[in-house]
Amino acid sequence: MNKREIFDQVSDMEKQIGELYEQLGEIKHQLSALLEENHRLEMENHHLRIHLENMEQDSDNKDVSSEERKGKFPSEGYDNLARLYDEGFHICNLEFGSPRQNQDCIFCLEFFDKKTK
Ligand SMILES: [Zn+2]
Repeated sequence: MNKREIFDQVSDMEKQIGELYEQLGEIKHQLSALLEENHRLEMENHHLRIHLENMEQDSDNKDVSSEERKGKFPSEGYDNLARLYDEGFHICNLEFGSPRQNQDCIFCLEFFDKKTK
């Protein structure tokens, strides 16, 4: 293999790497769009759950049933919120759904406090 051939091969590889890099960028873009969509749906789901919960509480204010509801229905919502928080998003009313940027939020943490008491 002469020097020219080696140089051509390296140029080819360089080109291929460039193309792969471009593809990687596209996939990354699609992934972030999917994550955004997923997050948006989670938020929507969360709001609908809260809405549903409020509607149920409005239509039935007996202590026993609201106690029951605390034990059953919200625990699933609680897990989802805890996961959302772990993934780095606010779950407090103030900034629900926005990224926490690696900072703890006292309002979010209040939510955990309330639930464990
Ligand atoms: Zn927060």
